[in-house]
Amino acid sequence: MHSSVILLVADFSSPCDYGFLQRALAALTDDYPFVRRYAVGRSLFGREIPLLQIGRGGKKILLVGAVHGSEHMTAGLLLRFAADYCSAVDADASVYSLSMGYLFEKRTLCLLPMLNPDGVELSLHGPADDCPLLERLMRMCPDGDFTHWQANGRGVDLNHNFDADFEKYKRLEAERGLCAGPTRYSGEYPESEPETAAVCAFLRAEPVEGLIAFHTQGEEIYYDRNGYVPTMGRAVGGALARMCSYRLARPEGGARYGGLKDWFIGAFDRPGFTVECGKGENPLPQTAFFSIYATLRKMLFHSVVLL
Ligand SMILES: [Zn+2]
Repeated sequence: MHSSVILLVADFSSPCDYGFLQRALAALTDDYPFVRRYAVGRSLFGREIPLLQIGRGGKKILLVGAVHGSEHMTAGLLLRFAADYCSAVDADASVYSLSMGYLFEKRTLCLLPMLNPDGVELSLHGPADDCPLLERLMRMCPDGDFTHWQANGRGVDLNHNFDADFEKYKRLEAERGLCAGPTRYSGEYPESEPETAAVCAFLRAEPVEGLIAFHTQGEEIYYDRNGYVPTMGRAVGGALARMCSYRLARPEGGARYGGLKDWFIGAFDRPGFTVECGKGENPLPQTAFFSIYATLRKMLFHSVVLL
């Protein structure tokens, strides 16, 4: 019996932290020799940022989770999908009428489940006693409750640190008096953070057809870059949205600037999306995990052909 079957049937009763990520990846690569694992880089605190590749196709797509620390559920959702996908490939099954053998030969699914491992660990466990930035972090979060922490290990919000209308966001940031902290601070310059730089370097070296960045929450799919929509962006976004009954939408305010999908659309002129999974207050309760996965499952499988 495949040990990652254990992962498949795991109840996900606990949130996905960095330790769970490592165990899940080990199980997947042990069980399924066709899964290739790489590190795209390391986080500020030295944690590996792993990437899985599944498939032999020339067309690659990338799914990214846990850009924001307190949105760690998205890492679990992508790991659950990885196990689901591998199991279907292994069985040479058809899923939603998609032939997994065909998908495996024609597409390469790239999964980066946890872009911001330091932020996830902060949100779930708080700073470690030997954390090199402990004092600085405690100044940014004086009550010591990091549950809602979105940023990376030094208080930069990775989803504002990409090179997409960065200067416009900087002006907004100055008006709002935002500085390093739990959320919304963009950093000193685009790609100043190792996590941002790592995913950009990967995409520059291995361009993909399309990308989805997973966040919580809102049950919405964003598909434009500050008003600009690449060819097929709306059609593909509409198809993805219909498959999970989420709303196709355009972000407003500061959320228009500096995100991963914004940079991707600008840099490659290919479809990029943000999917806001689930609904409620972040971090979403772990009890919602399976209903959110069930809602997204069809869209996730189809994203591999649609993007
Ligand atoms: Zn987010």
